[in-house]
Order: sequence, then C-alpha cells, then structure tokens
Amino acid sequence: MNAVVLKPGRDKAVLNRHHWIFSGAIRDLPEFENGAVLPVRSAGGDLLGHGYFNRKSSITGRMVSFGDEPPEEGIRRSVERALALRTRLFDPTVTNARRLINAEGDGLPGLIADFYDDVLVLQIATLGMEKLKPLILDLLAGAVRPRAVLEKSDLPARREEGLVETEGLLAGERVDKVRILEEGIPYWVSFAQGQKTGFFLDQRESRKLVRDFAAGRRVLNAFSYTGAFSVCALKGGAARADSVDSSASAIALARENFELNGLPADSGVFFTADVFEFLREPALDHDFIILDPPAFAKKKADVVAACRGYKDINRLAFLRVRSPGLVLTFSCSHHVDEGLFQQVVFQAALEAGRRVRILQKHRQACDHPINIYHPETSYLKGFLLYVD
Ligand code: SAH
Repeated sequence: MNAVVLKPGRDKAVLNRHHWIFSGAIRDLPEFENGAVLPVRSAGGDLLGHGYFNRKSSITGRMVSFGDEPPEEGIRRSVERALALRTRLFDPTVTNARRLINAEGDGLPGLIADFYDDVLVLQIATLGMEKLKPLILDLLAGAVRPRAVLEKSDLPARREEGLVETEGLLAGERVDKVRILEEGIPYWVSFAQGQKTGFFLDQRESRKLVRDFAAGRRVLNAFSYTGAFSVCALKGGAARADSVDSSASAIALARENFELNGLPADSGVFFTADVFEFLREPALDHDFIILDPPAFAKKKADVVAACRGYKDINRLAFLRVRSPGLVLTFSCSHHVDEGLFQQVVFQAALEAGRRVRILQKHRQACDHPINIYHPETSYLKGFLLYVD
C-alpha cells in the first residue's frame, strides 16, 4: 500500500507517539479516499505506524497505531486497554457512569465512548473514525453488552471533516433517559435533551469535593446544567444550593434530580438565566460560588475573548461572594492552560480587590486520562479559592 511520507526532520512528533500529523509535515501523500487508514513512513523510509487521513482537515492525519503493529490490531488493543483501566477504577454498585474511551487519551483519536449504566453513547469527531465505527461498535458491544448504543455526534467541528452533525440509535432499544449512580448518588441523564453525551462525567471528582466543602454554606451553582453540583452540595450539608443555567431543559432536569434525591423543594432556587447577568444581581448572599462554564475558547483564535469572559465571571463572583467564602472556578478550554487560567483569576481578584488564595487545584476525572505523549488531552482545570 502506498504510504504517507513525512518531511525530513518532521517525524519527531509521531516517533514520540503524538497522534496528529499536520499538512506541513507531509512530503508525499498517495492517492487515497478521505478517511482511509494509511501507513506512515519517515523520509528515510522507516515505518512509523498507521493513521487515518483527510485532506479536508487541518489535522490531515491521526495515528491509530505506532511502529509495525497492524492498525486493526492497534485499535483492538487500545480498546481493550481502555476497558481494562476502567474496570479497575470503579465499583459499579457505587458509580455506574463512566467514560470508556477518551479519544487520544486512550490512543483512539476522534472517539468518545461513555457508558451510562447499560447504555453506550458514542461521539465521533472525524471521518476516519466514522469509517472505523463498525469495528469499534463490534469491539465495544462485544465487551460491555449494552442495552442500547446511541450516537451523539452533534459537534460543529465535524463540518471541517466533511461530516454533518448526527444523533441516533445505532443498536438495541430506544432510550431517552437513564438513571445513573455516581459516588452513590442517583441522577437522571437525558439523551433526548442533554448536552455532550448526556452528563459531565469529567467533573465527578470535583462533585465529591463540593460535597466535602459545602457544609453549612449557601451555595450558588452557576452554569449548573442538570444541577449535579447542587445535589452534591446539599448531600454535603449545604444550607441551600441555588442553580442557574441558560438552558430551560437543563434546569427542568435539575429539579427532577432534586426530587430523585428526596431534596426538599425549598433547599434551592432554580433560575433559567444568563450567568453574566445573574452575577450582577446585588442581592446575592452566597458564600460558596461554583463557576463551571462551557469552553469559551473552542479554537486558538478565541483565546483572548475567552480570557475576557473568564475574567468577567470570576471578578463578579469575587465581588459577590460573602466573606469568608469559597469560589470553585473551572475552565475546560484546552487552549487556555492552567498557567494562563491562573493569570486570569489573578487579574479578576486584583480588579475585584479581594484577597484570594488557592486551596486546591483540580483536573478532569480519572476516566478522562491525559496521554503524556499527547498533552492536548489535558483540558479541564479548576481552582478551589478562599476569598476573605
Ligand atoms: N457543572 C455542570 C456542567 C456545566 S456545562 C455539571 O457538573 O453537570 C456548562 C453549562 O453552561 C451548560 O448547561 C450550558 O447550558 C450553560 N451555559 C452556557 N452559557 C451560559 C450562560 N451564558 N449563562 C448560563 N448558562 C450557560
């Protein structure tokens, strides 16, 4: 088979097991159909591995296996290793919702697989992975035996790959909603109306943290989605937990999550509102504010505007939080790294004129592993701040 040949000196990233090949690193591209898996060679002719290629994408190639391992074998082994890691991480009687495959974090670019009790949800970002879908489905369904397999590939980035956004049932019975258990706490996950694959599994460890720090506090859960942080705060003994999100359907499910957990209706108020405006309300009297916004920087060009957004909400939270208070603040934009995020928080503290100290630093939950060879897999960072 004709191989992709890299330019001299441009093979270092792949030799170091980074998954991406940009067009500028390629010397020869053979005839191929977009999405096909091709061998990748160095300028000197050494076989570096196999990747799938798409001329339409700025990341032209994404490696699925390295060295002389056949690509199907590499993919099968990556799936097996991903599953083996998760079986050791969770007791399913306590936590039955987990990420099984975290794209490059598990050596499988373009693929997210989340497992909610017995429902498997796939999210496919690239044409190459789209073509590998039958193989992936076969491997995953054979291993975890799901009641249903759904696809939630509603990613605008698919357009760059020549794909449309899509959602649907791939196998099994139709499921609109499922009850999951996380750290012993039940939550509803709605596939019909949910964002991403349904639930923000990457915040599992931070939810535990909120439970630990909430006792006696008046909590404001900003960007609450379906209220999971609010539920955790109340389980941890918070005096109150209010939730605010711009999505009415997320807030409706947040109310249902309170009911599911037997939390009294007066334990928190639900607001369907824009957080940027809501935080300007002078009447807020919270002493624990959680800020978990969506990714403000989806691409590199957005970083400056994103930092302005992060600074605004953090400044407003510092101005509003009662002293001595806590602010748990996050950024899930991988283009805004931890150092930059800390600088933004510093600027926000300075402008608010409050004394702010970092008590703890946080990252994505452990079923979202960061591939040491592919640092772009690190995206979520959070600081627990003490404001007095
Ligand atoms: N903390 C949540 C996840 C938050 S995801 C959890 O653990 O489940 C980000 C949320 O922000 C989404 O629910 C989205 O609807 C909401 N959102 C986005 N922009 C917003 C805005 N300007 N004001 C309020 N909510 C917003």
